[in-house]
Amino acid sequence: MAMKANVGLIGLGTMGAALALNIAEKGFPIAVWNRTTSVIHAFKAGAGDLAAQITPAETLADLVAAIAAPRAIILMVPAGPAVDDMLAALSPILDADDLVIDAGNANFHDTNRRSAQGLPFRFMGIGVSGGEEGARHGPAIMAGGTAQDWARMAPVFHAIAARAEDGTPCADHMGEAGAGHFVKAVHNGIEYADMQMIAETYGVMRDSLGMSAPKIAPVFARWNEGTLRSYLVEISAAVAAATDPVKGGPLLDMIVDAAGQKGTGRWTAIEAQNLAAPIPVIEAAVMARNVSSRRGERAEGEALYGPAPQRAEVSLEDLEHALIAGKILCYAQGFAMMTAAAKDFGWALDMPAIARVWRAGCIIRSAMLNDMATALAEDPARNLMLAPFFAAHLRRSVPALRRVVAAGALSGLGLPALSSGLAWFDLMRTARGTANMIQGQRDFFGLHGFQRLDGLDQPHGPWAH
Ligand code: NDP
Repeated sequence: MAMKANVGLIGLGTMGAALALNIAEKGFPIAVWNRTTSVIHAFKAGAGDLAAQITPAETLADLVAAIAAPRAIILMVPAGPAVDDMLAALSPILDADDLVIDAGNANFHDTNRRSAQGLPFRFMGIGVSGGEEGARHGPAIMAGGTAQDWARMAPVFHAIAARAEDGTPCADHMGEAGAGHFVKAVHNGIEYADMQMIAETYGVMRDSLGMSAPKIAPVFARWNEGTLRSYLVEISAAVAAATDPVKGGPLLDMIVDAAGQKGTGRWTAIEAQNLAAPIPVIEAAVMARNVSSRRGERAEGEALYGPAPQRAEVSLEDLEHALIAGKILCYAQGFAMMTAAAKDFGWALDMPAIARVWRAGCIIRSAMLNDMATALAEDPARNLMLAPFFAAHLRRSVPALRRVVAAGALSGLGLPALSSGLAWFDLMRTARGTANMIQGQRDFFGLHGFQRLDGLDQPHGPWAH
């Protein structure tokens, strides 16, 4: 009888197949099952040297029989009903101490529900970032579930995860139930924002400064050697540098300007509204993707109002600093949102650990996350814009952000993410705001009352009858 597998995996699609090979490569025998049987055999046949570590199972019962008890089974199927269907199919054939791990992009509300619904086995939800390449060679893993189940799976997840430059595996326990999928959703929201802000700086270079894609590429490459060092800036340089294999010329100029999305950025924006947590940079990025897909209306708008933008005077140095400031402000908002969620959902989210997990393997990996982890370790609940290290950065870079946003506004170049970051910063650094007027209005039309600065008791203004 063959040795039993340590782990099982269901769903040999793009992510599942890559993850299974990664697990096998790290020395864990794995049993696999897929809804379409031919895929199972094709997977094993294509596994090369790793095939010996892989047990193909044609039925779920065979899969369960092939794994050593207590079993651990990773689900890598599309989020939503497919996960519930698989949980239902596994219910009669698993034992109470077997563990099912949903590693797809579940909405964390679903993970909360599944954790609480009384499944006849143990259950975890983990966020896996890094796409196919990450899954195969080292993803970032954000785990949700009990500390006990995390401890059981940590050796596997630590072995397959990406490693930060200091060698730490980018896999950690975020908290109970849906905490892992929640942190993954915020990661994806930040991913939208990082991408949008880079695209906005590209727009300034292309439209305000009249630079061609091949001239823009080395600017991103240079930025990638400094404070902005990150995967997304690195690949933006590569995208700008690419030549169109069909017609020659810059490929970027041939790509339709309508961005796709799977919706995880939208989930983050919706959840931020539910939590009353301001994340305007992420919201602006989601908005911009939605606007980008309205190509027909945009063309009508241009025909009606005339082409924009006109050239503007912006230095590349200012642009780099504007992106640094925008990035800090965006992450400050994202971490503040997670602080609000931890309070609301009763999770002990470890902010420095989150920053550390994001340092490698995932799409938003960047050098700046090291400094964020350090600042969050000093005081996890303090907003990052108030941390001395980032305050020093912002004092240097916000003036450049102002000049870039102002140039965009005056020339007609939309910079929604960068400008909403600046607006949030200005609200957050203003002790005496303007909501006194809103309170006056609310009391005027709805007798909602207000507090006085001097603490005196005055239930309503003189407009009340
Ligand atoms: P694929 O479409 O490549 O694969 C989907 C897999 O799920 C296939 O094995 C498919 O089996 C199986 N499947 C589909 N529907 C069902 C069902 N109703 N019951 C059982 N099995 C089913 O998807 P991905 O690998 O890209 O994605 C898997 C999960 O990982 C998703 O939740 C996704 O959001 C998430 N994810 C994806 C990333 C990516 O970059 N692609 C990154 C991070 C997370 P069959 O062969 O029979 O069709």
